[in-house]
Amino acid sequence: MEIPLKIKMFIWKTCYNWIPTRGNPSKRGVNCNDICQICGKNNESTLHALWDCSKLKYVRVWWLPSGKFCDTHFGSILELLDFYSKRLTKVEMELFCINLWKVWCCRNDWMHKGNSFDVNEVVWWSKNFAEEIHIIGSSRGKGIVTEGRRREEVDDR
Ligand SMILES: [Zn+2]
Repeated sequence: MEIPLKIKMFIWKTCYNWIPTRGNPSKRGVNCNDICQICGKNNESTLHALWDCSKLKYVRVWWLPSGKFCDTHFGSILELLDFYSKRLTKVEMELFCINLWKVWCCRNDWMHKGNSFDVNEVVWWSKNFAEEIHIIGSSRGKGIVTEGRRREEVDDR
């Protein structure tokens, strides 16, 4: 996948429940309250924080190309990734991973910095980020990084 290493590492960590959610087993005992602070209802597992939370409904439905969203229940983040990796193209799967990462960033900024958690922003930001990766990636071979961008500006007019 053509996504930045930090996002690949993040996805890899989520598969092992190595991200510090409130419900993460490694955090038990440190944090008595393992309830998701965003919805205030469920245990904040990795899957809940990145996918299941009711607050993320808009993200779940809109980050995937139309018709690819399945209202399926998953037992873990690994099941979720496995399920969609068989249904999405490589580029779509990259966007999917970027979204998971952005959700986590927004959750942290919301919890620790008091920033707003805008789900529209997550979807919009991730799409732009994915596009940028591909513009840079596709023009790298030609040695002109800005060419793709310039062409896009022309097309917009
Ligand atoms: Zn929640």
